[in-house]
Amino acid sequence: MDVVLIDIANDPLVKLYGAYRTCYTPKTPREVWEDIASQAVSREKIAQFVEERLKTGHVSPLEQVVFWFGISGVSRALSHQFVRHRIGISFEQQSQRYVRFTGKNEERLEFVMPESWKDAGREAMFENLMAEITRVYREAVAAGIPAEDARFVLPNAAPTNFQIMVNFAELLHIGDLRLCTRAQWEIRSMVARMRSELMKKVPELAKYMQPKCGEKRMGYCDEEMKAYEACPLSNSRPHKLQVMEVFKRVRSESNKPMRDLEESDFRAAEAFRESGAKA
Ligand SMILES: Cc1cc2nc3c(=O)[nH]c(=O)nc-3n(C[C@H](O)[C@H](O)[C@H](O)COP(=O)(O)OP(=O)(O)OC[C@H]3O[C@@H](n4cnc5c(N)ncnc54)[C@H](O)[C@@H]3O)c2cc1C
Repeated sequence: MDVVLIDIANDPLVKLYGAYRTCYTPKTPREVWEDIASQAVSREKIAQFVEERLKTGHVSPLEQVVFWFGISGVSRALSHQFVRHRIGISFEQQSQRYVRFTGKNEERLEFVMPESWKDAGREAMFENLMAEITRVYREAVAAGIPAEDARFVLPNAAPTNFQIMVNFAELLHIGDLRLCTRAQWEIRSMVARMRSELMKKVPELAKYMQPKCGEKRMGYCDEEMKAYEACPLSNSRPHKLQVMEVFKRVRSESNKPMRDLEESDFRAAEAFRESGAKA
């Protein structure tokens, strides 16, 4: 597997600052950007401002910052999972219709083999099947069957390549799901490499790429308890039910104990909104 950060929106930290600042200042975007250009606002202040905003739920400015990645040598099993992400990401993937796979190895095409096959002593079985698939695929192509039809015999193990463009909001969301130990090893490894690549260029932003239980993300695990208990991150991250238990305990000692929301709560919230609007 190879993952390369091809390009980034020019100075993403500053782009993010401009987007956030525009929301919270009477200044026009021209004035905001003049302050940036004249260094009236320091790089340190920019980083601090962005850091504070990233602690909030105001996520849409993150959509204004994009990254391009090149990814190769991942399996079609991974790509099926990856392309399920629908929002804020654009994919270009190597075609099995237009590319005929000849492979570097004479014996067989290239395939991604999970370590577990080797661990189970079934490497040869896997290799033999891939060699047979290679033989059938090549024979099909030689017989004039178009590549788009010959590919029907190719397995999930067939490697594929991507160029993707993804915005920061979606990149963080992908990190939430795919850096989690519940995600499959291959896609987890790919997203970890995307994070490492970004870390080299924009560490101020890359550090926010964490599994959803990370302290910079949701902060707790919301997977089923059995999975949480099996996860090595449970040593340092709480489960949602544990957080609620602690909260309930603390609140039961106060005069505001936790309880389920009732219809009267919605009416109270509405009255609160109206009183705020009048104030
Ligand atoms: C551990 C794991 C196991 C999985 N197992 C399976 C499985 O067994 N079978 C299976 O089919 N899939 C499975 N998936 C894939 C999963 O169901 C999602 O399709 C995938 O994670 C894409 O994420 P997303 O829906 O957040 O899409 P994204 O495009 O990444 O969504 C980005 C954000 O936009 C929101 N969004 C996107 N589209 C809409 C919409 N139409 N309406 C409202 N909000 C929207 C999402 O809620 C999300 O917050 C699995 C994923 C993981 C991480």
